[in-house]
Amino acid sequence: MPFDRWNALNDAPVFPPERFGLVADRLGRILKTRNDILLFQTEAVVALEAVTASLARPGLKAINIVTSPFGAWFGGWLRRGGAEVVTLMAEPVRPIDAEAVTAAFEAHPDTKAVIFCHAESANGVLNPLEEIAAAARARGIVTVVDAVASVGGHALDVDALGVDIAVIGPQKSLAGPAGVSAVSVSPAAWRLVTAEGASRESTLSLLDRKAWLDAGRGALPGTSASLEFFALEAALDRFEAEGPDAVLARHGRAAKAARDGLVALGAAPSAPAGRASHLVTTARLPDGVGMDAFLAAATHLETDMSPGVGPGAENLVRLNHTGQRARFEAVLGNVAAYGIALRNLGLPADIAAAAAAVAAYYSG
Ligand SMILES: *Cc1c(COP(=O)(O)O)cnc(C)c1O
Repeated sequence: MPFDRWNALNDAPVFPPERFGLVADRLGRILKTRNDILLFQTEAVVALEAVTASLARPGLKAINIVTSPFGAWFGGWLRRGGAEVVTLMAEPVRPIDAEAVTAAFEAHPDTKAVIFCHAESANGVLNPLEEIAAAARARGIVTVVDAVASVGGHALDVDALGVDIAVIGPQKSLAGPAGVSAVSVSPAAWRLVTAEGASRESTLSLLDRKAWLDAGRGALPGTSASLEFFALEAALDRFEAEGPDAVLARHGRAAKAARDGLVALGAAPSAPAGRASHLVTTARLPDGVGMDAFLAAATHLETDMSPGVGPGAENLVRLNHTGQRARFEAVLGNVAAYGIALRNLGLPADIAAAAAAVAAYYSG
């Protein structure tokens, strides 16, 4: 028997059941909410599908704001459950205009729910959460927010804003594991989820998961994904030790430095200033430069640049400054690598000016 092939990651001890509730409380504090927190032993996109599956039913009208491929998925899941979906599509790789959302609310007074991404990792835009949530709240519309790529990196005050459902994962700003996620659910959201026609006896049913809350938040149903929860606790320990304000500021600074660095380089940031993700900064490649050639010109540097995702993002390069990457060395490395790639392709790039622009944010 190969007992010598010992690995600490195998045969992990069971996650102590009494700590699930504590983890939920810690996530609730990050979201600044007293709403219920449901835990999912799955990646966040499954939690998003569960939320839409639990809301969707014939007779329910929802406004789906699409600013990336995620939005298209939300609409598909809602329709699959029989909901009537009004699609509000932003211009490609632009945030939605808050006034367009209000106009849609006015045009569809029977709307029960609105769903959208807060910050987009796919193309780097930031949607106007505060304005949308306020307009929805004034009309009694349940607000559903994909906050996976904003929690920790952007202000997200769930109760003050009146966000009814927020879906989060620890794998972005919190630099935690990707196989676990959480959903906050307000009383108004529960009323909508539990109304006639609610989905049940499904892993996608929020109502089924409510049983965990009602039973006093002990062990989660099914085999505990212990490694994920130990890793989540470790991520929360680190997050809390640094402090939410410091983590948020670190991401905000990384985004500003990346943006100014790109501009100094002579590159073109894509997301509008003030409406840009703090987790990724996107830049539009110069005309005539292909994505594959650009990335190939920088692969030897092993920095963290990748193509944008979704319609209109084909020629956007993403500079990743998420989680532990939201630091000087990653930002400087990515901006310089962007410049090196341009130069390797025979294009001008002022790397010295770019480095100075980044350094200005980290001078102490
Ligand atoms: C990363 C991310 C998710 C979650 O995707 P996973 O596949 O679960 O990692 C959801 N929404 C947004 C906006 C994201 O950036």
